[in-house]
Amino acid sequence: MSLAHTFLVLLESPPHFRHAQFRDEPMTTTAASTNPLPTAAEIEAMTPMLRQYYELKLKGGDAILFFRMGDFFEIFGRDAEEVAPVLELVLTSRERGGDQPRIPFCGVPHQSARNYWLKLLKKGYKIAIADQVEDPAEAKGLVRREIVRVLTPGCIDDPEGLERDAPNYLMAVHEDPDTKVWACLAADVSTGELRLGRVERFEDLRGLVERYKPKELLARRFFHDELAALLAAYRYDNRLLIEPLPEAPLRDRQEQKTLLSEIFGKQDLESQPCGEVPGGEGLVTAALLYFRSLQASITQFMNVRPLHEANSMILDETAVRDLELFETVRRRQTEGSLFREINRTMSAMGARLLRYFLAHPLIDAGQIRARHAAVRSLVGLGEARLHEVRENLRGLPDLERLATRIFARNIAPADLAKAREALVKAKWLLEDLTGERGEKLPEDLYKAVSIGLKFYRRPFHILSAALDDAPRALGTGAGVFRSGYDKELDALNDLSRGGESKVEAYQEALRQRSGIGSLKIKFHKSFGHLIEVTKPNLAKVPKDFIRRQTMVNCERFVTVELQELGEALTAATDNALGREAQLFDELLTELAKFRMDLKSVAHALATFDILQSFAWTAVKSAFAEPRLADDGRLELRGSRHPVVERYVGRHAFAPNDIVISPDKKHLLITGPNMAGKSTVMRQTAIAAILCQIGSFVPAESARLPVFDRIFTRVGAADDLSRGQSTFMVEMAEAANILRNASQRSLVILDEVGRGTSTTDGLAIAAAILQDLVRRVRCYTMFATHYHELVDIAAPHATVKPMQTEVHDTEGRIVFTHRLVEGACDSSYGLEVARLAGLPDTVLRAATEFLAGNEALVPPVVASAQPVGARRLQGATSTPPPPAPSATSAPDALVEKLLKLNVNRLTPLQALNIVAELQASVQAPGTRPRSTPLFPEESC
Ligand code: ATP
Repeated sequence: MSLAHTFLVLLESPPHFRHAQFRDEPMTTTAASTNPLPTAAEIEAMTPMLRQYYELKLKGGDAILFFRMGDFFEIFGRDAEEVAPVLELVLTSRERGGDQPRIPFCGVPHQSARNYWLKLLKKGYKIAIADQVEDPAEAKGLVRREIVRVLTPGCIDDPEGLERDAPNYLMAVHEDPDTKVWACLAADVSTGELRLGRVERFEDLRGLVERYKPKELLARRFFHDELAALLAAYRYDNRLLIEPLPEAPLRDRQEQKTLLSEIFGKQDLESQPCGEVPGGEGLVTAALLYFRSLQASITQFMNVRPLHEANSMILDETAVRDLELFETVRRRQTEGSLFREINRTMSAMGARLLRYFLAHPLIDAGQIRARHAAVRSLVGLGEARLHEVRENLRGLPDLERLATRIFARNIAPADLAKAREALVKAKWLLEDLTGERGEKLPEDLYKAVSIGLKFYRRPFHILSAALDDAPRALGTGAGVFRSGYDKELDALNDLSRGGESKVEAYQEALRQRSGIGSLKIKFHKSFGHLIEVTKPNLAKVPKDFIRRQTMVNCERFVTVELQELGEALTAATDNALGREAQLFDELLTELAKFRMDLKSVAHALATFDILQSFAWTAVKSAFAEPRLADDGRLELRGSRHPVVERYVGRHAFAPNDIVISPDKKHLLITGPNMAGKSTVMRQTAIAAILCQIGSFVPAESARLPVFDRIFTRVGAADDLSRGQSTFMVEMAEAANILRNASQRSLVILDEVGRGTSTTDGLAIAAAILQDLVRRVRCYTMFATHYHELVDIAAPHATVKPMQTEVHDTEGRIVFTHRLVEGACDSSYGLEVARLAGLPDTVLRAATEFLAGNEALVPPVVASAQPVGARRLQGATSTPPPPAPSATSAPDALVEKLLKLNVNRLTPLQALNIVAELQASVQAPGTRPRSTPLFPEESC
């Protein structure tokens, strides 16, 4: 059998990386299973049970097969070897048949199998469940078994198999044969979110996968190898299951029409954006049919939203990574991310929506202002009242996912009661907002959430009238519905209860008659009601008792009367349970009519949860309300980086003033290593993002323009899997910025060019800065250790040199982490190296090397020689090299020229050497000047 159609992309670090705790190293791709299955001849020689197992295993493909045997689900062969360690099961073995080696196997009790399935699904496995489909007692020979269900990670709606505060996407992609455009879909079965969009190039799918982090990917089988290769180093701590996209619906227009109108309604079909994406309707149809084929509900998909909403910004994966929005770059942990820092939501729905907000900042000033106003209202309540509001939200059930399960008719009465609890919270909130409880919250807040909350009414009344306060499980006869809800059910329940008391009365009568005080009537599933008499009392048994069973300590009897009583009671109980099941079914049907209402309430509750989270963060972490600046000026006073602040401590963090105005739009930031350049740039971008998601920002005051995009290029990352070096990645990211940034974008570039030789790096950095300044004209923060760039860029009026301040007191360097005007001509590299604990011998060698090789150091480095290095240099006995003089210059010049290996010089190095030589023959004291790469007149 071919196993090629399914790939599991193993995305965990190989063990040696894990030991080293480097989670940002490239990861490996492996196919799910490489162990071959037994041959047909081998299977033929096996025991009948194992033959049946392998027949089903072949049908189940690459899925892990759970094979029901009595009270257990057993897993055999390579499946067992693979999942036993994952599920922490003991691996054992049993006879295979013939003279074949024993087969490994492990098993789980059938009552708790679901937990094991969910654990595997969470880890990215696909599962097939083979159950017994006939009563073992009636089976002739081997019990018949069939695969009754296949489960995949992208098709689950069970809360226990899902991450609480993250969506669970399945993605599907399809290349339209005519336009060659890729239609892409992201669907979350658990919430009913369905998005459709397009990318132009196959390679762009990678970015999309990184953004949506799907658990499962559907594509035509034809593309599986290519996709697995593209996503091989996909940095994501999980497996990604790639499954075949059903092909027939991609072409069958009639099938598309029928299914789409069934799901979205005839009128709605036109209003869905499917048609705008080439091949979109086919893709949506194929994905929905795939869900259906796996018995996943699809009725929760009520509309199709675009992948990129028009009112929000596209934050690419680089910015998401560099700004550590959801996980840290180095360790890939949520702890230390911006999301973790600002997430003070009280519900899973709120947390999920916050994730979405953070990845999709708004670009519409009106919408941003509305969110700010709502947060302002909540902040205005004061800390004590806000705390009370939060406490009222505590334990808010996940109505979004519960609603989906209502539509899927896959919900227990207790969970339905949780949905009602959420509606009660909505009711409370609305009353609070409208002031029905004597308190009136401001208009802005009311507007923000009340429209959705109002939809709580109809489903709430239906549920309140029907469900018992604490409904028990269906089929137990313990009570799901309120008494009075349905007369027929009440009557049947009375009958059933009456029957029970009749049996009790009969038991008492028998005790009296027989004189056996310990006589008991018990109900047995297979035999009905039986009278139990212990062995010592058997002599007292009346004649009309009919013996049914002999046990170790007792004997069981029946009487004609008891038989009649029992039958009447069973009939009444069955009827009551039947009626209860019917009513429950009708209740779900009734609730399903209010699909939109339930979804609207869920969304409004989640939105309110986010707003209160923003407000609480503002109060507790001293965030200020930003004002949107119409004049395009960015002005942050006392701005902080919320995460760095947490780690260094509120009082240790030095707040910064950051001003970027339209006439000084490009900050060129120099400063020593470790002085806070990256931090100040990141915190500016974070402030912009927080502002545009509607949050307050970590600053004393803030004015910000609305940015259309935010780009970052911070830190070093290589991409070995794509064969890209650090420098290559850096250049690709810079190219992306230059291609896509506009005048309204914020661009953050940290040490561009450092990945190559100093001279080439400087040239590239200068040229990129030039392009940003002259052509793109975006808001720019450009940090560099190429101090020459200050001279080079100085002529341009919109460039403002800034530096991170450093105090040099009594031989010790102190970083104030303050961003101030001006340029710094030192990186204090050796000083920082000393602080970092580089051995003294190495530091001395570095100093001597710098002193001894000064003449060979290219001018850009020579002029940037660290002050710290100079000081260390002074501490050694090496005398400083003599200053070049006009008389000694020609000799040194000739000597230097002779030393050059012309064949190994790049043109840029040659140019720089000419500049250096020229400078060395200038009058003593004149500062060597590099040739500006973009002269004043061109700016
Ligand atoms: P390099 O040039 O070496 O990359 P850098 O100038 O970019 O360094 P950062 O990485 O921004 O420096 O900051 C280094 C460390 O300094 C941070 O990890 C943080 O601990 C501390 N730091 C940065 N900014 C501040 C601040 N404003 N207040 C207090 N500590 C800060």
